[in-house]
Amino acid sequence: MLTLEQVKAKSQTRLAGVHPVIRQLGEELIARCYNRGVWIVITQGLRTYAEQDALYAQGRTVLYDSKGKKLSVVTKVKGGYSIHNFGFALDFALLLKDGKSVSWDTLRDDDKDSLPDWSEVVEEAKKIGFEWGGDWRSFVDMPHLQMVFGLTTAQFRAGKRPTQTQLDAALSKIKKATTSKEAEPMTAEEKKEFEQLKADVKALQKRVNINGDQTPPEAYHKALEAAKAVGAITTTNDKDQSYLKVIQTLYNAGFLEPKFIEMVRSYKGKV
Ligand SMILES: [Zn+2]
Repeated sequence: MLTLEQVKAKSQTRLAGVHPVIRQLGEELIARCYNRGVWIVITQGLRTYAEQDALYAQGRTVLYDSKGKKLSVVTKVKGGYSIHNFGFALDFALLLKDGKSVSWDTLRDDDKDSLPDWSEVVEEAKKIGFEWGGDWRSFVDMPHLQMVFGLTTAQFRAGKRPTQTQLDAALSKIKKATTSKEAEPMTAEEKKEFEQLKADVKALQKRVNINGDQTPPEAYHKALEAAKAVGAITTTNDKDQSYLKVIQTLYNAGFLEPKFIEMVRSYKGKV
């Protein structure tokens, strides 16, 4: 029995070459499959143009391998025409429970849940946002997964790449899925409570004028005018409730009387 980390480690070299976002999504796929009892290994990630050309030759111009075994066609495209060439595609295979063998048998059901393990991988991959080569009509490619963000191969070849917004959105999809419990919408009752709470806070803010954005209540006008007249404040606007109370207290005690201020300012005694 391999741990998830051990299963992941088998794909590290392949994943290291692809775009960082595809790498993260690939790791997420391995983990999700592992949690379903299906182990997979990434068998192909980034493929250079030269590697793609060599692959294209297989079964076309190169008909036999070094051991004389007949080669069949494995790709429909030359270098620069596969999403693998830009690091936005992955190929997977099943990793058998001996932890060593790899299988492309799309009908195996090693975790015995009556679902082909291959289909379980495809299901998880699609949930993450991958496009599956098995859905293609012209050249069915069962191990192939890719994410092109609406770009054509020609655009990739011309150097165009997904925007940061697109990449962020792709990643947020897996983050949302893993924290789905927190993302659950509020119940009607919770929403009602929340709305009430918002209204209470708003009323409280208004009462104490926390934001200092209201005209001070009539009751403080005299004190404010007095404070402004002696130069203690420059404006009667923008005062929160506690500030208003201080000014009112000074006024009540007579500290804002012009004669008192005059006396204080002219005081030359020892301090
Ligand atoms: Zn592929």
